[in-house]
Amino acid sequence: MDFSRRDFLKGAAATAATVAFTGVMSGCTAKTNAETPAPENAAVNTKWYDENYFKKPNPITNIAETIDVDVVVVGAGNGGCISAVSALDLGAKVAWVEQGAGVITFAGEIAALNSKIAMERYGVSYTEEERNKIVNDICRYASYENEQRLVKLWAENSGRTMDWFVDKMAAKNVDMFLETDLYETSTYTTPAVTHTVFKKGEFVEMGPNYMGSQLANPVWEQYADEMGVQKLFKHTAKQLIQDNNGKVTGIVVQRNEDEKYIQINVSKGVILATGGYSGNPEMMSALRYRDKDAIVNNLGGHGHNGDGIKLALWVGAAMDRNHAGGIAFNRAALDLDHHVGEPYSSGLSDIWWAGSQPWLKVNTRGERFMNEDGPYDFQINGGITQPDRYWFQIFDSNYWEDVNAFHTTICGRVVAAKGARNSEVLPGVFPCKNKSEFEGAFLNPGLESGRLIKADSIEDLANQLGIPAVEFARTVERYNELAAKGYDSDFGKTSRNIRPVIKAPFYGIALGNWLLCTFNGIRINTNMQAVTENGDGIEGLYVVGNDSGGFFANSYPQYYGGLAQGRTSCFARLAALHAVTDSIYEA
Ligand SMILES: Cc1cc2nc3c(=O)[nH]c(=O)nc-3n(C[C@H](O)[C@H](O)[C@H](O)COP(=O)(O)OP(=O)(O)OC[C@H]3O[C@@H](n4cnc5c(N)ncnc54)[C@H](O)[C@@H]3O)c2cc1C
Repeated sequence: MDFSRRDFLKGAAATAATVAFTGVMSGCTAKTNAETPAPENAAVNTKWYDENYFKKPNPITNIAETIDVDVVVVGAGNGGCISAVSALDLGAKVAWVEQGAGVITFAGEIAALNSKIAMERYGVSYTEEERNKIVNDICRYASYENEQRLVKLWAENSGRTMDWFVDKMAAKNVDMFLETDLYETSTYTTPAVTHTVFKKGEFVEMGPNYMGSQLANPVWEQYADEMGVQKLFKHTAKQLIQDNNGKVTGIVVQRNEDEKYIQINVSKGVILATGGYSGNPEMMSALRYRDKDAIVNNLGGHGHNGDGIKLALWVGAAMDRNHAGGIAFNRAALDLDHHVGEPYSSGLSDIWWAGSQPWLKVNTRGERFMNEDGPYDFQINGGITQPDRYWFQIFDSNYWEDVNAFHTTICGRVVAAKGARNSEVLPGVFPCKNKSEFEGAFLNPGLESGRLIKADSIEDLANQLGIPAVEFARTVERYNELAAKGYDSDFGKTSRNIRPVIKAPFYGIALGNWLLCTFNGIRINTNMQAVTENGDGIEGLYVVGNDSGGFFANSYPQYYGGLAQGRTSCFARLAALHAVTDSIYEA
């Protein structure tokens, strides 16, 4: 049987989607009094978001069982794994709640500054001045609508938390890689911060490599089991419990199997890490999520229903004020009859991983409209601002030479290089060593899906894509003139990346916005405690990962590869330290 890479990819997608979906569905229950809003909360909207949506439910009273622990961690993803093991490591009695059947295992890169492994094995370190520059650059991506103190906290503490991470993994035969093959453009710098785990002794220099949280998170689960965690997987967090002073003293969770409620009392605190709200379109609307209707793929949304954020809001925590909170790839392939604004899909078959290659981009009028080079969020912002809210990527038969010249890095990498992770990011998608690998991993599956269009002439390409042919031909001609000059006087693209579109056959694909996760969330202080509108910490309540806010706003600083998981890992450990010891510093 001829089993193509594309079939494999589809199969893997289906399996992954089924697992994720089953996990989510097993978390679904019939409406209970937990979901019924209390009548006294009738709404007069005083906030920028829809307060009605976040009405506090009646307290759950029909408790079937009660458990007493020091710390509860909610969520068994990247944040929850680290919080749970950290708290256990510090000697706390921990209950670990997860709606699904096991740890969640996507994401791979983790950004940290000045880890021992970076400094000692790879010779990479940053001075205080460089670190401050990095902090300010990250804040610039957020237009300073974030909390600089949190970014500084990450910059100063991610190294030592990574050291703990590395030591723990090393004891279980898992090693850490630092990406040092980084290419800069004339506009953006890319510091070497991206750490990824791999199986000790099994790293293949030119890949593909099996790396990331699919490897690390089962190891964290093993640690937690060994240290006697009270695991409540297939349980869904429903409500926090507060005392009269507002301190969080516990949580009510629901066992998925029989819908019974269990109250878990805590002596130290509850740590929420439920992964944001990217899977909850209603909540996105309630939070006025910017450009929600331009999302065309939402792989990663399953199970991310915003529960942690809701729980925290119900006990008086404050939400980030920024409405544009998500990481998104410019790699969602569109059917040509799709119209942005229609309900989005969420399959791997919709993904064109080469979408971040800085080839010529045109809008539906056939016009070039921006410098194609830059962080994927910026590319999306530019694209969805255009008529019809999507764009076309255009290239010619020199694609292999082009992608080698572009030398995109981190998760946008499509060409294998020394000093790069070369990991298999998704099944079947990995940085390639030669043209035929590239064709097998990217080009052919794109053509088979019917989304990548191939044509013998520019005019035919325009006709197949449905772009006005005359304008498109003019755009291509102008682009080729700039390429011949080696200088982009129109949009200032880095010279090495203006590559002519001259060699038939020609290719084009319609692309849109692929949401990965949300990142605006509950405001926290530098102890990782949720805060109220006036900035007071809520005792006993910690929020980390995509549920927490303050770190990002508007755009994701993609060139700090793995910053989402980097802040998640770092802050998940600091939250556990503070919950157990009252200090974010190790004794
Ligand atoms: C495909 C993909 C790839 C990514 N790759 C990277 C990367 O390489 N680097 C990077 O920095 N970032 C990456 N990200 C972003 C990534 O989401 C964050 O970095 C990080 O995972 C956030 O961790 P978290 O703990 O907040 O959430 P998650 O890791 O998503 O974990 C949340 C967990 O909470 C559980 N949960 C939800 N609600 C409840 C409830 N009510 N009760 C109990 N459990 C609940 C969920 O089932 C889930 O297991 C990627 C995202 C996606 C979608």
